[in-house]
Amino acid sequence: MNYRKKFVVDAGEKVQLSKIDPSYTGKHESHEKAMPKIQEHIACMDKLQYLLYADGNQSLLIVLQALDAAGKDGVVRHLFSGMNPQGTSVFGFKQPSKDEAAHDFLWRAHLRAPGKGEVVIFNRSHYEDVLVVRVHKLAEKPVWSKRYDLINDFEKMLSNNGTRILKFFLHISPEEQLERFKQRLDDPSRHWKISDADYTERELWPKYIEAYEEALEKTSTKYAPWHIIPANHKWFRNLAISEIIAGTMKEMGLKLPPTHVDLEEIRKKYHIAEQEQVKQGSKGSGA
Ligand code: AMP
Ligand code: MG
Repeated sequence: MNYRKKFVVDAGEKVQLSKIDPSYTGKHESHEKAMPKIQEHIACMDKLQYLLYADGNQSLLIVLQALDAAGKDGVVRHLFSGMNPQGTSVFGFKQPSKDEAAHDFLWRAHLRAPGKGEVVIFNRSHYEDVLVVRVHKLAEKPVWSKRYDLINDFEKMLSNNGTRILKFFLHISPEEQLERFKQRLDDPSRHWKISDADYTERELWPKYIEAYEEALEKTSTKYAPWHIIPANHKWFRNLAISEIIAGTMKEMGLKLPPTHVDLEEIRKKYHIAEQEQVKQGSKGSGA
């Protein structure tokens, strides 16, 4: 399935989240059927991350945005655990620190943006500055409404500098969110994730949807596209996102850089007999 094509928000496209089914799983998919595909995509991502790192010319930025309990942490845990920590990082955007708040809103995002050869995952992002900030009126409209253009310029600059950007909005229903909050209450190992705000924020659901729709509409571009991922089913969310990331990385033309040394000469100099070639791919998982 081409989930990239299916879930991408085209530049300038109008977004109505109420028209998108968060429980969508496609016609022929089931959890069991999806597992081997998810594993295949993850293996592909891991292999290509190794090449991205070795190649050192491009980078990948993945932005995860969603309402609470939609599965941002789950995506990080399930899809990126096989990547080499050397060259991969996750940054979670919290309420700005004093230092962060003293700068422009893109400063902290720019600081964490991937260098060449790196994969960076933003768990929340600079988009909070047109989402929570708008919903909670932490800035006036004349301030946050100028930020869409600033974000587009910022992302264009990163893109021009060799960063591939993929943005995902995990789309869940309010009922599914409530169910997940309940599961957290029932699971002592996840009590730490619960806060009062979880429930008060739910009351602002329509305001968040309005803010998300405008952000998705105004900041989905060719160089930094948004994808709206039906996320009521965790396995489907993982399937779609892993397919989109693996497919995009395949297009990046990643390859091992040429060696800078004369291998024959090294063999001769150190009297090393040529052995059977190490099988292609044995290092490919980023080992
Ligand atoms: P969590 O993702 O559960 O760790 O929560 C992080 C919290 O930080 C969320 O409530 C976000 O809305 C909040 N947050 C992130 N960025 C900003 C921002 N720029 N301004 C205000 N709150 C933010
Ligand atoms: Mg949370």
